[in-house]
Amino acid sequence: MIKFLDLQKINLAHQQEIEERMVNTFRSGWYLLGNEVKNFETNLAGYIGAHHAIGVANGLDALRLILRGYIEMGVMQAGDEVIVPANTYIASVLAISDNGLVPVLVEPDRETFNINISAIEEKISSRTKAIMIVHLYGRIVFSEELKEMAKKHNLKIVEDNAQAIGAKWNAIKSGNLGDAAGFSFYPGKNLGALGDAGAVTTNDEELAKTIRALANYGSNQKYVNIYQGLNSRLDEIQAAVLNVKLKYIDAENARRREIANRYVTEINNKNITLPQLPENQEEHVWHLFVIRTKERESLQQYLQENGVQTLIHYPIPPHHQQAYREWNQWAFPVTEAIHCEVLSLPISPVMSDDEVSAVITVINSFNVK
Ligand SMILES: *Cc1c(COP(=O)(O)O)cnc(C)c1O
Repeated sequence: MIKFLDLQKINLAHQQEIEERMVNTFRSGWYLLGNEVKNFETNLAGYIGAHHAIGVANGLDALRLILRGYIEMGVMQAGDEVIVPANTYIASVLAISDNGLVPVLVEPDRETFNINISAIEEKISSRTKAIMIVHLYGRIVFSEELKEMAKKHNLKIVEDNAQAIGAKWNAIKSGNLGDAAGFSFYPGKNLGALGDAGAVTTNDEELAKTIRALANYGSNQKYVNIYQGLNSRLDEIQAAVLNVKLKYIDAENARRREIANRYVTEINNKNITLPQLPENQEEHVWHLFVIRTKERESLQQYLQENGVQTLIHYPIPPHHQQAYREWNQWAFPVTEAIHCEVLSLPISPVMSDDEVSAVITVINSFNVK
């Protein structure tokens, strides 16, 4: 069976280095807010090209803390609106509603799966304070038009960069395109920890300071609390693992691109719509390789029977979730069509050429009965 994602193999590729760093952390007796986190923040900021990086507990918290930071700074307040793609993982939307802000859903582009930038402006109201862009599946969504729109309406651009570490737009890395970005190091992400972990990057010094305090009980001096903060810190042991793995992210993303290029050139089954390779000024990091097909259920079963594990990202859009039952009647036809047709093929830096060939052969041999 070709696994959808072989996490064991991904991490064993760096076994010796990771184990050494973990043992050192174990023996150091210092487990929170120490040197590994400090170094990781420096390394991540350097890698992204941003002035500040703050390690936090997970990707959802990273996004929640960015918006909460803006609230504490008086940039926005409860009841204000934040634009977000209708076609995203629910965490993007939760980060907004959890802060008492109002998510305003915008349809995606059918080809890129990302928010349709030209559909944003009609959703901007006097209460809109930010646009949250999500580089879904590792593909950048950004343009001069978006930047101008944000400037014209005085909106913050918040990047949900959970799926796209290392992606670039005109030589600028994702995580440095907007005003602030949230990262997830959930084990299955391109840069994965051995548990939950996340980070925020920004060039805004005041926001960075605010988030650093908010994530540590609202305090920047022990037992002095400026905000009603939360506990959302990055563990030393996770930072130790991330410090090792960050060194290899470019090579690992390059391997993902090789595999994606092979899929795009060699899969030729006419029942399947392949994702497009991005334009030249973009570098995709292929967190997921997502195809579309009207025959999803039978294709997924056929692949399973022939030794290829696949997953669906995502089966239910946020507006159809019970968690947002007041939105269930709303219609987002592009989003809904995408959710009915998408299927994610195995892609990872540790897949061998033979495994990639096997996936291609099986897919090309699929016939609709
Ligand atoms: C994974 C993910 C998150 C949340 O990250 P966690 O670390 O799991 O909290 C947010 N947004 C998107 C698009 C994601 O894929």
